[in-house]
Amino acid sequence: MSNSVTFTNIEKYYGDFHAVKNANFTVSEGEFFTLLGPSGCGKTTLLRMIAGFNSIEGGTISFGEKVINSIPAHKRNIGMVFQNYAIFPHMTVFNNVAYGLKARKIDKKTAEERVLKALRLVKMEEYKDREPSKLSGGQQQRIALARAIVIEPDVLLMDEPLSNLDAKLRLEMRTIIKKLQRELGITTIYVTHDQEEALAISDRIAVMKAGVIQQIDVPEKIYKHPANEFVAGFIGTSNFLHGVARKEGSLTVISTPQGDLPLERDLGYEGEVVVSLRPEEGELTREENVMGLKGRITLATFLGDFMNYEIELEEDKMIEINEYTKDGKTLRNIGEEVVVKVSPRFIRVYSKEGMVI
Ligand code: ATP
Repeated sequence: MSNSVTFTNIEKYYGDFHAVKNANFTVSEGEFFTLLGPSGCGKTTLLRMIAGFNSIEGGTISFGEKVINSIPAHKRNIGMVFQNYAIFPHMTVFNNVAYGLKARKIDKKTAEERVLKALRLVKMEEYKDREPSKLSGGQQQRIALARAIVIEPDVLLMDEPLSNLDAKLRLEMRTIIKKLQRELGITTIYVTHDQEEALAISDRIAVMKAGVIQQIDVPEKIYKHPANEFVAGFIGTSNFLHGVARKEGSLTVISTPQGDLPLERDLGYEGEVVVSLRPEEGELTREENVMGLKGRITLATFLGDFMNYEIELEEDKMIEINEYTKDGKTLRNIGEEVVVKVSPRFIRVYSKEGMVI
């Protein structure tokens, strides 16, 4: 049986509240797939439906070709890791990891080999006789991970597994999880509201908002080609300018209160639009006679390899532009007048309703 997971026309209601609206997608065998979105958008609801903890009001979920809607949770071969580690405090690390194998009646010798292998994979073998209360948060989460993979699940589900860890541990665990998943090739569905984490860890991401999947794609595409204004705003940082698109000759120019932005193409659309620009996509200059948006630096933040400048454009519009600090570039001062040069190829255009044009 293939360990892909397919959602077909999935619906979920809590009473009158429509929590998931017509979800359709397939997670391929061995893929690291992330459900990403703000709090309350329905990520956990979808995950719990796969696990069998939430009923399905419409549509089907299949593992490979097999529809699993009516298979009870304990008969779906699933490994789970949660935000709170859900470890048994009175059992040793070894027994915590062995728990799922006992329940599956695996013989003692095989179970022991598998537990030790799982502990080795998460680099916790030497802690096997410890009690979990004597372990750090990161170590406890590694035990939870070992416990989830030891049963050799068809699908691994993770719900915000790094949320309780401090920033440094979160990065460390992110790498451990990513490497382990690649090594074992387990189909993995991961839930997070942290866009940076999603970009770093996933093969593909589904971005959700209010129960609706907005875009499914590889991290680079999600970042560089957001399908709508919501995705552009939620993933990374975007500056948004409101304007009007009109045709000039064979090309489109977008007039904004901050200045004109000529495109290199005909949008095939005239009227109100929203344009977005990432901080790394604008170039700052002091020259006055160049095409661009005139402004003044109001805040300068040193971020190591680059500076982040807040710039006030016409009509009090604030945007952020980054500038690399290498090549002996001098840092700019607050109050400095600048022109933001924008290459037409970086300008993304959305309709008034927020859809990409
Ligand atoms: P978070 O990151 O905060 O956990 P989420 O994206 O995982 O958010 P869900 O937990 O899936 O969101 O919840 C989706 C929506 O459904 C929310 O508005 C939530 O309030 C609602 N909801 C979740 N569980 C229930 C429930 N048992 N009864 C009623 N409403 C619920």
